[in-house]
Amino acid sequence: MIEIKTKEEIAKMRAAGKIVAEVLAAVGSMAKPGVSTLELDKEAERIIRARKAIPCFLGYNGFRGTICASINDAVVHGIPQKGKILKSGDIISIDTGATLDGFCADAAVTVGVGKVSPSAQRLMDLTKKSLELGLAHVRPGAHLGDVSNAVETYAMLNNLGIVREYCGHGIGRHLHEEPCIPNYGVRGSGPLLKPGYALAIEPMLNAGKDDVKTLSDGWTVVTRDGSLSAHFEHTVAVTENGCEILTIL
Ligand code: MG
Repeated sequence: MIEIKTKEEIAKMRAAGKIVAEVLAAVGSMAKPGVSTLELDKEAERIIRARKAIPCFLGYNGFRGTICASINDAVVHGIPQKGKILKSGDIISIDTGATLDGFCADAAVTVGVGKVSPSAQRLMDLTKKSLELGLAHVRPGAHLGDVSNAVETYAMLNNLGIVREYCGHGIGRHLHEEPCIPNYGVRGSGPLLKPGYALAIEPMLNAGKDDVKTLSDGWTVVTRDGSLSAHFEHTVAVTENGCEILTIL
């Protein structure tokens, strides 16, 4: 069952979302050559705790970070590490979540480090655009499949791989709630969207093929063909006539 949040609950998620947006802006601008992913993680944790919120990834199923820091062919769930030093030309997906007053928000951005190749920039731009196109379908009376299909259609049009093993999700008191929101789907299928639904929508697109695998660290998901992957995510609430992005400043 997809939970309907009250206006008060959405307000709490909005407050959490602002913190997440602040973290992504701050940590995204720190992603420069020579910086370790652990440094990014520590800054993210510092900001979240300074705002009296709780990092919701830290300890989640045993994850050892406030952010997921996924570089180049890493898709999601990269573990922040002292020895993972960013270099010019890398792209890094930074994904984080914060809980405030019992409610979570979750968002991700992918940023370039130093000077990135045109193809890496294109992948980031197109993945960000696919999120915007998906969000344009979030309104009461639309089907969840419309959102998924918008992402899929754009990815296929641009010849990008679509990560199929990982999905967006409902969100609220818990980081992951129903429904599962794949980045592919059939228009007119899936649940009807209603005001009060809170959803984390997160396209993960690859420059190469769809397939991914998990590294031996048990967390880091990478593309099987070694191609670059990008990831963008927002937490949104379905409103009376559309949607509100909660993870913005
Ligand atoms: Mg998420």
